[in-house]
Amino acid sequence: MTSASAGWRFDNSYARLPAPLFSRLAPAPVRQPRLVVLNDDLAAALGLDPAALGETPEVLAGNALPPGAEPLAQAYAGHQYGHFVNLGDGRAILLGEQIGPDGRRHDIQLKGSGRTPYSRQGDGRAALGPMLREYVIGEAMHALGIPTTRALAVVATGEPVYRETVLPGAVLTRVAASHVRVGTFQFAAALGDEALVAALLDHCIARHDPELAAAPERALAFLDAVVGRQAELVARWLAVGFVHGVMNTDNCAVSGETIDYGPCAFLDVYDPATVFSSIDHHGRYAYGNQPAITQWNLARFAESLLGHVGGGDEAAVEAARGVLATFPDRFRQRWLAAMRAKLGLFTAEEGDGALADGLLAALAEARADYTQSLATLADRLAAGSPPPATAALDAWEAAWRARLARQPQGQAEVVALLRRSNPQVIPRNHLVEEALAAAVAGDLVPLERLVAAVRQPFVATPENARHRQPPPAGGACYRTFCGT
Ligand code: AMP
Ligand code: MG
Repeated sequence: MTSASAGWRFDNSYARLPAPLFSRLAPAPVRQPRLVVLNDDLAAALGLDPAALGETPEVLAGNALPPGAEPLAQAYAGHQYGHFVNLGDGRAILLGEQIGPDGRRHDIQLKGSGRTPYSRQGDGRAALGPMLREYVIGEAMHALGIPTTRALAVVATGEPVYRETVLPGAVLTRVAASHVRVGTFQFAAALGDEALVAALLDHCIARHDPELAAAPERALAFLDAVVGRQAELVARWLAVGFVHGVMNTDNCAVSGETIDYGPCAFLDVYDPATVFSSIDHHGRYAYGNQPAITQWNLARFAESLLGHVGGGDEAAVEAARGVLATFPDRFRQRWLAAMRAKLGLFTAEEGDGALADGLLAALAEARADYTQSLATLADRLAAGSPPPATAALDAWEAAWRARLARQPQGQAEVVALLRRSNPQVIPRNHLVEEALAAAVAGDLVPLERLVAAVRQPFVATPENARHRQPPPAGGACYRTFCGT
């Protein structure tokens, strides 16, 4: 079987951009590529033959190039914890853009593929556990309907990587609408090369917003589109209890996809101050701070576009501010739409925001499990189960039932909406850790079960009984680590 027959169909529009935006280089070969997981569904969606892919792990490891690839590392900058840094793909190689059967373009990137001109002190490599984690969380997010990059495969390299301990190395094949980040625009703008910013803008509009190509103020129109996507994205994160963990501007994709699964995790207990990342000491990227940080990141994005907004400097700043100022309301509207569905509401009332906020306050006070509390609303309505634990939750439930009674839909319809809007299964931190530990030790069964469970998040089955349960002790001390 050759890699050609896998169905690779590359175009390389990023490689046609001006030179400072990337460095051409091939992935560094690894000792002993061995396929660990392959995402058959995603392969099929990309027009790739899973069997042929599985037979060519050397391609997924970077030891051989698929036909038509023009490998490169992308340059970008970013604000990391608020500080501006020049970065770039320090351990990733973009192979090219796979044109799917639907004509859509998907970046195919190897992560953990060796050193690049942007590696700084890093080794360019990745460990198996964190790459499998990215695979699991990406699949969960996708199944939850949240825009996300996804992993096509993870291959073990047969080489050690040195972190706090010696770990098995791996390469992840990441699929994205594009890998252009807010930080990519910051990189171009920081060079003071407005032609470069313009080329990047053209590239992104062609890829993500082709209808804006002829817009009179296309930079502003693109800013507006990105603000809208990010408002939608962070609203959906909050609705499922997701904490990204490292929302630096280099981890903020203009496509509106969730990208760079590092120290991310889902809430167990509802607490807006939740931080999982071991290095986020000040809670900059805490669960409840994510909308504010998104807006901060978008302000950095707007700054990088100012040279392309018409009417002179002051007018450009005013116009960009005007677009940024729409963020809080757009976020709140999208969040409210998500919460209405999660509360079984088909109609809109003035007090719905307060009703949703009231539930969250009561959950926080009760230190209740976020996902399970929402998932059981349908059961409580259907079965008239015993009331929840605290006085606050009790009072909230009375208000909720009164609100449901004010809409025309009957109970069966409401229960159906609750069930399709509230996941039963999220990738629970304790089960993710358990599955990764087993996988790294050579047993892939728990990982396969976990992936199967997170791919069907809205149904309760005997197989996913464990995956629907909160952690035994509330999971309060869960910590995730950067430097993955
Ligand atoms: P991240 O926090 O994973 O988004 O990465 C931030 C920056 O560090 C990016 O430029 C990465 O390419 C780079 N980086 C992370 N890990 C490594 C590594 N092991 N070797 C080289 N560069 C890395
Ligand atoms: Mg990153």
